[in-house]
Amino acid sequence: MHWPGGCRGALSLSYDDGLAHHVDVVAPALEAAGLRGTFYVPIHRSDLAARPAAWRRLAQAGHELGNHTVFHPCRREPAEAFDWLSPAYDLAGYRPEQLRAEVQVANQALQLIDGQHRRSFGHTCCDTRIGRGAAAQPIGPLIADLCVAGRGAHTERIVQPAAAVDRMDLGCCSGDGCRIGDLERLVAATLACGGWAILMMHGVGAGHHPLSIDAAVHAALLALLAAQHDALWVAPVAVVAQHLPAR
Ligand SMILES: [Zn+2]
Repeated sequence: MHWPGGCRGALSLSYDDGLAHHVDVVAPALEAAGLRGTFYVPIHRSDLAARPAAWRRLAQAGHELGNHTVFHPCRREPAEAFDWLSPAYDLAGYRPEQLRAEVQVANQALQLIDGQHRRSFGHTCCDTRIGRGAAAQPIGPLIADLCVAGRGAHTERIVQPAAAVDRMDLGCCSGDGCRIGDLERLVAATLACGGWAILMMHGVGAGHHPLSIDAAVHAALLALLAAQHDALWVAPVAVVAQHLPAR
């Protein structure tokens, strides 16, 4: 696999749920390090509706606004762990046309912000299926014409472009709760295998989201990536996805 600029590996930084400090703190920190990321923004109950101009500036700086649906539906399994999510938004009860419509409307809303027609999808709660039992079906094929890629399941694996890649369910590694040693090992493994690591994060520092990466660890990660500039290509998910070999 040949990555742009002669790089030996690729990495995408992704941040979920449209938090205000993504705009105010995280995106500027990435820009100061010469990096650009993907921000997966649900339309409903995110900072997007409150401050569309701020999110437009973030997109104009070269970050991706990723599709994270309208209502952030997830599989409520087990239900007691999903008090925050109404049963109306249980992906197990979603129909294919319902999910497609939601992803389409989210695309339209994000397009009003950033003017872009191509973006990736961040599977909410890393859930990759709708429906129950024998009626369950994968989300990826349902929306493959609406988004250029899907971040997919939480696999803790590096994407191997030389293998058969499911572009709509790439798999990702969680950065939430990581120590810098974990992330140094991930970068080293990515360079060693020539693959693409997709990091999923939520809050940076405590107090913004139940899931978070320590602020000092995040700062060290950005410094590590900036120092690996010649070897590791850091770009938004939609940008890297378009460099994958055609199936
Ligand atoms: Zn989310």
